[in-house]
Amino acid sequence: MILPALCANCRDPISGKNILCRRCSESVIIRRSPVHLSDHGILFSATDYADPSVRGLLKELKYNGFLAATVPLVEMAVKHLTISGFISRLPRNKDIFLVPVPVHMIKKWKRGFDQAEEMAKLIGKELSVPVIRALKRRKWTVPQSDIKDNDFRELNIKGCFGLTKRSKAISKGSIIIIFDDIVTSGATMKEAGRIIRSLRPSKIFLVSVASR
Ligand SMILES: [Zn+2]
Repeated sequence: MILPALCANCRDPISGKNILCRRCSESVIIRRSPVHLSDHGILFSATDYADPSVRGLLKELKYNGFLAATVPLVEMAVKHLTISGFISRLPRNKDIFLVPVPVHMIKKWKRGFDQAEEMAKLIGKELSVPVIRALKRRKWTVPQSDIKDNDFRELNIKGCFGLTKRSKAISKGSIIIIFDDIVTSGATMKEAGRIIRSLRPSKIFLVSVASR
């Protein structure tokens, strides 16, 4: 017997390969402009993390290991990157690389994949930009979402990234797009950016699917 699939948000039965029902999928508000990350610059973030449909998809992905949930999340990101003018204004006269913010190896191994990396691959395809796993986690950290205090978030993430051997493929003066699925305080993006800056890029862009 084949059971009908259920919407990741409202649990209504759905057909085909969809993960959200049409109503929930259409209810997601995609931002038209980037958001300001206090002192960390601007972030091209597709939607609000508080949106129940987005949370439903992220939950399927992170806790149920449902990799197909990356597809609608990436669609949201690409839609935002299109309507905000990010894609049309991306300078194509320089090398451009997409760098996902990695989860810890143990987490990747337990889940079977790294969600930001999987989403970056799909976004890279849409943007025709190669994905380079230039960053690695050097230490185990408490999930940023479990920490309420912003200063402690910065301390938690400090020194947690390093460069991989693959990062050597990124030449000086390139444009680097750092991608993470969710951005909360921006502390992780800030730390990732700090390490990425040592590659001497001409410009760094920050992109995420959802943010607070
Ligand atoms: Zn629904």
